Amino acid sequence: MTIDTANTEQQTYLPPALRPKLAKLGVQHLRDMLLHFPMRYEDQTQVRPISALIEGESVVVEGVVELAETKLKPRRQFVVLLREAGADGISNFAPRLTLRYFNFYPNIVQALKVGATARVFGEVRAGRYGLEMVHPVFKKAVTASSASGTLTPVYPSAGGVPQTALRTLATKARKVAEWQTDLLPRAITEALHLPVWRDAVQVLHQPAQSEPPLALETRTHPAWQRIKFDELLAQQMALRDAKTLRAGESAPAISPTGLLGEPLRQRLPFSLTASQERSLTEVLADMARATPMTRLLQGDVGSGKTVVAALAALIAIEAGYQVAFMAPTELLAEQHFNKLRHWLSDLPVTLTWLTGSLPAAEQKAAQAACKRGETQIAIGTHALFQKKVSFARLGLIVVDEQHRFGVEQRLQLRQRGQQDSERVLAPHTLMMSATPIPRSLAMSYYADLDVSVIDELPQGRQPITTKLVSEARRGEIASRIYAAVQQGAQAYWVCPLIDESELMEVELQNATALYADLVLLMPNVKVALLHGRMKTEEKAATMADFAANRVQVLVATTVIEVGVDVPNASWMVIEHAERFGLAQLHQLRGRVGRGAAASTCILLFADKLSDTAKLRLKVIYENTDGFVIAREDLRIRGPGELLGPRQSGLPSLRYANIEEDVELVEAARDVATKLEHDGTFNKTAFLDRWIKNRAEFAKA
Ligand code: ADP
Ligand code: MG
Repeated sequence: MTIDTANTEQQTYLPPALRPKLAKLGVQHLRDMLLHFPMRYEDQTQVRPISALIEGESVVVEGVVELAETKLKPRRQFVVLLREAGADGISNFAPRLTLRYFNFYPNIVQALKVGATARVFGEVRAGRYGLEMVHPVFKKAVTASSASGTLTPVYPSAGGVPQTALRTLATKARKVAEWQTDLLPRAITEALHLPVWRDAVQVLHQPAQSEPPLALETRTHPAWQRIKFDELLAQQMALRDAKTLRAGESAPAISPTGLLGEPLRQRLPFSLTASQERSLTEVLADMARATPMTRLLQGDVGSGKTVVAALAALIAIEAGYQVAFMAPTELLAEQHFNKLRHWLSDLPVTLTWLTGSLPAAEQKAAQAACKRGETQIAIGTHALFQKKVSFARLGLIVVDEQHRFGVEQRLQLRQRGQQDSERVLAPHTLMMSATPIPRSLAMSYYADLDVSVIDELPQGRQPITTKLVSEARRGEIASRIYAAVQQGAQAYWVCPLIDESELMEVELQNATALYADLVLLMPNVKVALLHGRMKTEEKAATMADFAANRVQVLVATTVIEVGVDVPNASWMVIEHAERFGLAQLHQLRGRVGRGAAASTCILLFADKLSDTAKLRLKVIYENTDGFVIAREDLRIRGPGELLGPRQSGLPSLRYANIEEDVELVEAARDVATKLEHDGTFNKTAFLDRWIKNRAEFAKA
């Protein structure tokens, strides 16, 4: 971007024929090759005798050609038998190695004539007649390798970019002095025992043969540490920049009058936990400032985030502002709407319900109410943030289950503030998430957010008993549930999850069949079915029936996964639990254990579990703490999947691993703070080195 001067143009030239393929590897510019590090190395510096070959190794081997022939069966191939050099040709005991070429050119046949001494490089495999190599690279014997004393890098490749081309380009890239500059002050890297930039890059692209191979492979070598540290540092800085950008915007400074908040507190059947109070205080402090709040309220399933958001909303309303309250599904939005309507029933607050499934006329009316400023809390799905919806005085946006929303939606949200032309103030944003992110991950991924944590559950909650039961015993479980329901309990029965949308039909059939079975099995009990294909009103009516205990057993597809809150429900059965991810299982299980009764969650599983499925079920069986589950989830799946869409808006990490490199994450965060005020540090150059498309990123 910045260093394409006429002078470097020539040097930074990528071969046109390779350009499209290199682009697929993320290499658009020669400079990118510098950070395109090898995935492994081969030791071609030492020639191994045939007698010392080990299966699975890639080595250079030398021997005398004993036999060379073109075979036609079972497949046309050129087969060579190499005998240990120096061994007696007559001896049957001399070690031998078979070489096979399926595509071969006359030059190979020419070089591998009987009696010739040959040197080849390849992977040793066990063949039917002893050790062999398939398509080994032929090396001219005797001449010393040009890169003698160094390991040969093997680069990630795609689309047939040859390793030789990648090696040449990487070497070329290392010759551009400018890219070798260490942008970090030596005092900082020294304190962390990290090598200088040039050395780290050199070692990784072309390690001396003496470098410890294991440290290179496991990426624990100091050179790797340096690269990972820089990558993490760039991520920290970019996230902070995004935050600073926002801090430059203005928002309404709102302070509570207590006119609405106090009455709500008084009518709640409980008092807030200490964590809820603390989180609310943090939220209020942010809202009292004239810069927009961007706060994430994190708390495990059932920790009581909604009421904190409701109290924050009332404070905005007290000050004359509007609130938009957004949930990822209609069901959840509806539940919030009902809950808030109930909580605020005789307070002077106007609520509006707005989702995409409303009839056009009602949508229009709702939009008009938002625009004219009549509505004080608009509750709904992402339909709230369509272009045609505008607010007269939007002061606070609440986003429930924020991890369900993609970055684009987050972007849209933020733009809401600036869009209404006459109003220059940006709204405050409060996001909520029950996906507990391990600390290390939070530091890295949420560096641009302020985080409040509700780390305790309301008092009086009974622990949930989790049971793993083979689906063969479904009938038995149904009897237990039937007995419990007759004693006044309520139960969810969740149906298998099927991902592919064309399988929605099957999912529905399964749920319908199960529903029919349970109706037969449970006379005098009201069983209802809830699934994604039902009309919104039907879903809402069914949910309302369940909430009011007019329905005792709710057979549901995963539409109930997030947020649903019916405290009297104390039984949860999950069909095909092995198909669910850990976060989902935790969310589903969190639907029970919300009232005073002891709850049970039964995970039904099918035979023939995969290893990962077994692992997941073990984790959910042994743990109830969302943070522990998230950590295990991270271990099983890796951070990319855990974070879902949010990842796409971030410069994803290529080399560092958030979970394994936790110390580096911490160091990067500290150094980011130090460098903020270091006038000698060239931040622009540093970020350019690591983050492509930086302009796009800054917006997210
Ligand atoms: P989540 O954090 O999962 O969104 P909710 O906000 O749905 O949890 O709260 C779960 C349940 O706990 C609700 O029924 C809510 O009314 C109740 N609740 C919230 N705070 C408290 C509290 N301090 N004491 C008792 N119950 C509470
Ligand atoms: Mg919730």
